[in-house]
Amino acid sequence: MASVSMNALDGGRTTIASERLESLRAGLRGRLCLPGDPGYDEARAIWNGMIDRRPAVIVRAEVADDVVAAVNFARDNGLQLAVKGGGHNIAGNAVCDGGLMLDLSPMKAIQVDAAARTARVAPGVTLGELDQATQAHGLALPVGINSTTGVAGLTLGGGFGWLSRKLGLTIDNPSAVEIVTADGKKRHASEQDDPDLFWAVRGGGGNLGVVTSFQYRLHPVGPEVFAGLIVHPFDQARTLLQGYREVAAKAPEDLTVWVVLRQAPPLPFLPTEWHGREVVVLAFCYIGGVAKGEAAIAPLRALGKPVAEHLGPMPLVGWQTAFDPLLAPGARNYWKSHDFKDLNDGAIGAVVDAVGRLPGPECEVFIGHLGGAINRVPVAATAYPHRDIQFVMNVHTRWREASQDAPCIAWARGLFDATTPFATGGVYVNFMPEDERGRVQAGAYGPNFARLAALKSKYDPRNLFRLNQNVAPA
Ligand SMILES: Cc1cc2nc3c(=O)[nH]c(=O)nc-3n(C[C@H](O)[C@H](O)[C@H](O)COP(=O)(O)OP(=O)(O)OC[C@H]3O[C@@H](n4cnc5c(N)ncnc54)[C@H](O)[C@@H]3O)c2cc1C
Repeated sequence: MASVSMNALDGGRTTIASERLESLRAGLRGRLCLPGDPGYDEARAIWNGMIDRRPAVIVRAEVADDVVAAVNFARDNGLQLAVKGGGHNIAGNAVCDGGLMLDLSPMKAIQVDAAARTARVAPGVTLGELDQATQAHGLALPVGINSTTGVAGLTLGGGFGWLSRKLGLTIDNPSAVEIVTADGKKRHASEQDDPDLFWAVRGGGGNLGVVTSFQYRLHPVGPEVFAGLIVHPFDQARTLLQGYREVAAKAPEDLTVWVVLRQAPPLPFLPTEWHGREVVVLAFCYIGGVAKGEAAIAPLRALGKPVAEHLGPMPLVGWQTAFDPLLAPGARNYWKSHDFKDLNDGAIGAVVDAVGRLPGPECEVFIGHLGGAINRVPVAATAYPHRDIQFVMNVHTRWREASQDAPCIAWARGLFDATTPFATGGVYVNFMPEDERGRVQAGAYGPNFARLAALKSKYDPRNLFRLNQNVAPA
């Protein structure tokens, strides 16, 4: 192996002698990949097709000691360090050009203790893999809505989906983490041990260290839920969204209803004349028992005149993959997101206006339904601070050709600007694109930023973990 020129933490370049790399390689259970090696391209590929970066060295970790080795190597040699879990983050910080990439995706262990209702989960596990393992025991963790998202990145930023109104955010459910901090130490953090660190990792993203294991509390759910899609014509969008806001406000915590506005994909239950036309989709999941599902969604079904619906009892693991075909990896993507306490007519008008001018067939607006158990947690209890919002809007701009970058990004920014007066100013850190670093302090962390920055100084004073929505040391 030859020596390798790499990007340094301070922004310059540094040469790493071949003996050092050989010694790193020799100490790993997992693999060290250089450009051209088998596994290199697989490891550096992430969900957002706009990000195409080439690390100088990739460590494909298999055990916590590999993580320690990579963190020590990056720190001792002053190298840029990127950390990849499931590779879904829109900002693309999981991969870097010319630095050291620590790929956790080979770490796949899941241990479910059905009697204790807990799971110990390694950081390369995806949501679908976790759902399969927990639902085998009729248990579940509240996570996101796409089965290929990584548990690690989702948890560290917050994590919400169909179960969160009843069971809280993903970060409201871990009881402990094992984490490797910038000094290379393996630490156990929980409410009892290192409670400050445990507070900070619950929302603080990858700023504090590399989590090598999550211990979660699980809940009995399903295995069947009452879920489905109700599809409406777009010309009813304004009144539908007004009706939706009333239904959402009165919904029991067992019921979660998201709205998707986009051109209709060729869903098998949708008459073909609707394929490709703008629609409003009410997507819902009721977890209070399938026998009660029909009654629970009656107010939702009373809205407007749908063109088609597909709903009923179905396995939770199946519903958790319902959106996968629309969210497959590889496309070019750009997101903008706002939090809302309510959806007033101004916000609804801006969304309807923008969806009337979609820049492409895969572009969409998601409105996620929060509240419930999420909002019963005090703001200061975790680094994630947004405990008073009811809705999250995520503008999912998605397209295939680089020539479409400018119009698609401009459309997303236009809708973001038009809805800004009605939003809280807060933002979910996991929905922030790369160009939103200016929103980290006030938007992502707000009242919790100062404590997070102080803990960053304590655990990572040199900001080794900076390729993330970065909280600089205080
Ligand atoms: C299609 C799609 C659907 C989504 N749906 C939802 C949803 O329903 N609900 C929701 O809450 N979010 C959702 N998200 C957002 C998702 O939570 C974030 O993209 C999250 O960061 C993904 O985690 P990851 O491990 O896959 O990503 P990665 O890109 O691998 O990781 C993101 C960042 O987290 C850090 N990181 C990852 N693993 C570790 C670790 N073990 N230790 C320390 N730092 C680490 C790194 O800084 C990394 O840059 C969705 C994203 C996509 C692309």
